[in-house]
Amino acid sequence: MSFSAEQFKQQFPLFAQEENAGLVYLDNAATTQKPLSVINTMRDYYIHSSANTHRSSHRLARKSTEMVEQVRDKARQFVNAASGKEIIFCRGATEALNLLAHCLCSELEPGDEIVISTAEHHANIVPWQMAAKRHNLILRYVPHTAGVPQFDRLGEVLNERTRVVSLTGGSNSIGLRPDLSLIRQLLRRMHIMWVVDGAQLAAHEEIDVQKIGCDFFVCSAHKFYGPSGIGFLYGREILLESMPPWLGGGEMIAEVEFQQSRYAELPHKFEAGTSPLAAIAGLGAALDFLSRQDRVAMAEHEQRLTRMLHRELSASPNFRLISQVHHNLGIIAFVPVHGSATDLMHWLDERDIAVRVGHHCAQILGRTSGNQVTVRASVAAYNTDSDVRDFLQALDDYCEVQQSAISDEEVEPTSWTRDDFSLLQLERLASHRNWQGRYRELLLWSKVVSRKPEIRNPENLVRGCESEAWLVHREIDGRHFFGLDSDSRVVKGLGALLLSQIDGCTTEEIEALDLPLLFKELGLSKHLSQSRSNGFYALMRRAFHQVESGENRL
Ligand code: PLP
Repeated sequence: MSFSAEQFKQQFPLFAQEENAGLVYLDNAATTQKPLSVINTMRDYYIHSSANTHRSSHRLARKSTEMVEQVRDKARQFVNAASGKEIIFCRGATEALNLLAHCLCSELEPGDEIVISTAEHHANIVPWQMAAKRHNLILRYVPHTAGVPQFDRLGEVLNERTRVVSLTGGSNSIGLRPDLSLIRQLLRRMHIMWVVDGAQLAAHEEIDVQKIGCDFFVCSAHKFYGPSGIGFLYGREILLESMPPWLGGGEMIAEVEFQQSRYAELPHKFEAGTSPLAAIAGLGAALDFLSRQDRVAMAEHEQRLTRMLHRELSASPNFRLISQVHHNLGIIAFVPVHGSATDLMHWLDERDIAVRVGHHCAQILGRTSGNQVTVRASVAAYNTDSDVRDFLQALDDYCEVQQSAISDEEVEPTSWTRDDFSLLQLERLASHRNWQGRYRELLLWSKVVSRKPEIRNPENLVRGCESEAWLVHREIDGRHFFGLDSDSRVVKGLGALLLSQIDGCTTEEIEALDLPLLFKELGLSKHLSQSRSNGFYALMRRAFHQVESGENRL
């Protein structure tokens, strides 16, 4: 078999929609798109087979039950588990990790230890913290260098009290893949339970839990082209047998008496309540879909794109790369040298390029590495070379605009009352024929807005702006004056546009303005992302409220 990204992409109807014709989707670590076979299977389930499982014995119930057990077997094959009893359906990796933290830790003694790493997703940190608090356990971290866990040094934090080691199979924030065979070596012959958080890994390579040698493996279908709301936990049968159940309710019992119950056999012991049946059907379709692909060729394609992106970004003086190309699942994490990561994300969004900015549910890694907010581009097999080229071109354009905006001297901080908006000419902004020119002009306008640490307090924070923004107001002799601050240049630019229209005006003059119309006429509503537009309107609403309420009148 071989692999063609273009042909693969054709199986995903989202990309065929007119509104998505230019979409470059690089947010696959958050969730992947779904192929038609998954969508149709879920629809067909409701049309042809919908009934509750296991409890009733009529035709539809039997059909639905059969479907669930068939999907369980597909999941078993997907990770090469020894038996279907070892596959527990969950809502996803988060629920599976909560189940493990709850059930494993309730059997531990105070002072027992759990080891995790700085590269874990919050889903593999918080449940262990909660359980550690509840049962007086000690949480340890794999030694790290500048936040990056050194998995080869895992042995340094293991001791006779270590009971559980729960580590990522691949980091969602920097893409780092630990060498699982090395971890297996280090844990060999120690009676420690090993959990692999495979939420990212399962999307990128074939999984063989017997070869990995782990005791538990968790994953979420939506990360590998399946539906959201379903995933599964693999656990070694002997361990699952000895664990207490987690949630109580229907399906997980054999018999209920007045004071106690006898629990169902595996795997049902851990599946209380009605399962998300259509999602299970969709998971089955996703597993079938993957089994029809050449997974090795798919992974090679993803790795080639990952290398291309790392090569280009590492050669650019305008970006600082956080992720490394080696042992990487397909995630490129970086920060722009000039401007904020959020501004860059919006710039990309305005070109219909989807990436993610933030801490990526890995705040400990962000804090320990000193990179609390990064831009993350994550690839999937339907990404093409042209996606990568469009992305890189958009980054180049962004840098060009930033460079011309920063070449002017930085404005010295002054008091907020002194920002002078009178030089900002609307005609000049409107005279730029293309959007790029207008955007550059807005960035230049942002320089009028001086830094004002004194107004940065919760009282002045404008709700509804995605990037933080603070706005203050004072009315002097019937005229309204405003002070604005933000870390985002774009927000400052938009704020400068707003204040150029209203600063120093009377209430009547402000009320006579039609700012939404102006915003539209300048093409801002067309070119800016929805969240940026919302930010402008949030600033406008706050300013109007201040005018109307007569706050801070002198
Ligand atoms: N673990 C990792 C490494 C992840 O990337 C994620 C999700 O991004 C999770 C766990 C949690 O997965 P879910 O939100 O599907 O439960």
